[in-house]
Amino acid sequence: MLYFRTEVDILKKYIIPYKGLSIGKHRFDFEVDDRFFEAFENSEIKRGHAHVGVVLTKNTTLLTLNVEIEGEVIVACDRCLEDCSIPVHYNGELIVRFSETEAEYDGEVLWLSPAETEVNLAQYIYESICLSLPYQRVHSTDENGIPTCDPDMLARFKIVTQDEFDRIERQAEEHAVPNPAFEKLKALKDKME
Ligand SMILES: [Zn+2]
Repeated sequence: MLYFRTEVDILKKYIIPYKGLSIGKHRFDFEVDDRFFEAFENSEIKRGHAHVGVVLTKNTTLLTLNVEIEGEVIVACDRCLEDCSIPVHYNGELIVRFSETEAEYDGEVLWLSPAETEVNLAQYIYESICLSLPYQRVHSTDENGIPTCDPDMLARFKIVTQDEFDRIERQAEEHAVPNPAFEKLKALKDKME
């Protein structure tokens, strides 16, 4: 199972050796830092730190991992491209099942060979943090609701007015979440033309 296996040394800290565990609940705690994110190529996360708490429930046939991630990461602000801190709150469940036949990780169940003795959570942790990030990553807003972006950078991009920013934001939102009512209307309009 290539997906959860990693050869990068720093990522070997995120291994849970489940083979010797007794049936029942077990708690594991991990920390991720800048070096963790550096280990992932082309990561949009530049830096960050987070605490990862895992409650593993061992059953005779499967493992259930309840994963909680709390922290903060640095990404490029969508608006001014400067470093921007985004809080991370993630709560998820990963099921580990065992099978001789390899199967792709589908976002819920991770299949491991019965011969395996441990699971590396580095990839899961990384992807969970990425998934927890909001679609829009911008600097927090001040008391007037205006993002506290780097004014020099904004001037360079010539995004000078709040109206313009709002327009871009609206476009991004419409792009991200297609409105079914709008889609229907558009289809109807296309038909009439
Ligand atoms: Zn910004």
